[in-house]
Amino acid sequence: MEIIHVSAECYPVAKAGGLGDVVGALPKYQCQAGHVAKVVMPMYRTKFLANNEWDVDFEGNTNLGDYFFNYTIIKERTNKLGFDLYLVDIFGLLDREKVYGYDDDTERFTAFQIAVVNWMSSWEHKPDVVHCHDHHTGLIPFMMKNCFAYRNLSFVPTVFTIHNGQYQGTMDWSKSKNIPEYDSWKWGDLDWHNSINPLASAVKCAWKVTTVSQSYMNELRYNSNGLEDLFEYERGKCVGILNGIDNDVWNPETDSYLHDNFKLSTVVSGKKKNKEELCKRFGLNPDLPLIVFIGRLVGEKAAEILPDAINSVLYNMNGQVSFLILGSGDPHIEWQLSNMNGNYPGLYHAVIGYDETLSHNMYAGADFLLMPSRVEPCGLNQMYAMRYGTVPMVRSTGGLQDTVVDMGAWEGFGIRFNNATVSDVHYSVSRAVSVYQDKTHFNWMRKHMMQIDHSWESTVEQYLNIYRSLK
Ligand code: ADP
Repeated sequence: MEIIHVSAECYPVAKAGGLGDVVGALPKYQCQAGHVAKVVMPMYRTKFLANNEWDVDFEGNTNLGDYFFNYTIIKERTNKLGFDLYLVDIFGLLDREKVYGYDDDTERFTAFQIAVVNWMSSWEHKPDVVHCHDHHTGLIPFMMKNCFAYRNLSFVPTVFTIHNGQYQGTMDWSKSKNIPEYDSWKWGDLDWHNSINPLASAVKCAWKVTTVSQSYMNELRYNSNGLEDLFEYERGKCVGILNGIDNDVWNPETDSYLHDNFKLSTVVSGKKKNKEELCKRFGLNPDLPLIVFIGRLVGEKAAEILPDAINSVLYNMNGQVSFLILGSGDPHIEWQLSNMNGNYPGLYHAVIGYDETLSHNMYAGADFLLMPSRVEPCGLNQMYAMRYGTVPMVRSTGGLQDTVVDMGAWEGFGIRFNNATVSDVHYSVSRAVSVYQDKTHFNWMRKHMMQIDHSWESTVEQYLNIYRSLK
């Protein structure tokens, strides 16, 4: 089967979160299963671009409304990532360093999608499925179905995966001029509440819709930033498939980012060494249980409760636990967390920014990983933590609920709580401190978690079954 993945992110080319990890791994494992999976994404000016070799695959031109543009598609020469990787260059729109965060993101991603569809429609053969990821590629199922110029793609099945339904790419109807000409009576396929909504459009137009966990699929019908009725209506074509993790990248035995590698039989000593190194670097007391947070500092992750929760814990449980934070996002939360540096010597440190190397060392050196998320479609952090023997402390939501079993249950290995509140976090920290002191139980949990199979190998088949069902 030939599968074309279209995405704004793909690790290690460009990553801002879990979307990048998934699109960097799923195609690789699809290829290993004997299929031809390809990824097409924008040609940002990243290190990966500069450090690898490329061939020009295609040169074309098309329109974004009145704006005529040329685009170039380049292909990575050596199949380095385990799949064919294509980058789309559009001068003046995609040639930027960052993935998101520009005032013209709407135009950038609309032009990217038009170029991808324009390119595919020029192929002599057609792929078996076009698999789009998140709202940045959400107009593609509509364009393949309804745009006059791309009628030759209308019979190609489309699958749309929602990694995060909170972001929908909504744009004003005045931007409809940017979309290639389509049957005007199909305007309803683009619309949601009087705006063009690419996420809603993809849910309407894609042949099949998936989300990255079963619980999140169910939650979207009650809490999806205004699309609840749509998910209720389209539930028949929606499926939840839990993400896997890339065990080639996330393996404590071989991870080249780690200060000290370790495996199941050396987990206790290996984690101790990594923890000592982390604590030395950030001035923390290595004798205390170390709780870390890694992630975007935004409301979805309940990051704004961290300052109060940590202050409350460190004030009331002084000297019993330490915290290390890595994240970036809301400037006010960044400011609050970094301002606390120095307030609790040996007990607290925050690093503001995005640091892949440090994140791996934190999964390896921490005792607990805190995720109080309000919304967590799948969550990869808790799965990385488990693979590195770090106990997840998570709010029971979305993929966190599907992957973490509370230590109070039979064979449980994590800590779960119900509310994104200071008191629930505080109570969970006290449970963490107690179990940390019970070394036999704690080490059993570590070893048990490390052996849980979250590999893509077992997940890939579920996607293939969906593609097969569309033929
Ligand atoms: P989301 O995609 O919602 O941000 P996920 O849990 O699906 O959340 O994926 C988060 C990914 O991004 C993980 O690989 C995590 O380690 C990484 N990550 C998030 N923030 C940072 C950061 N500040 N530095 C390094 N890695 C980060």
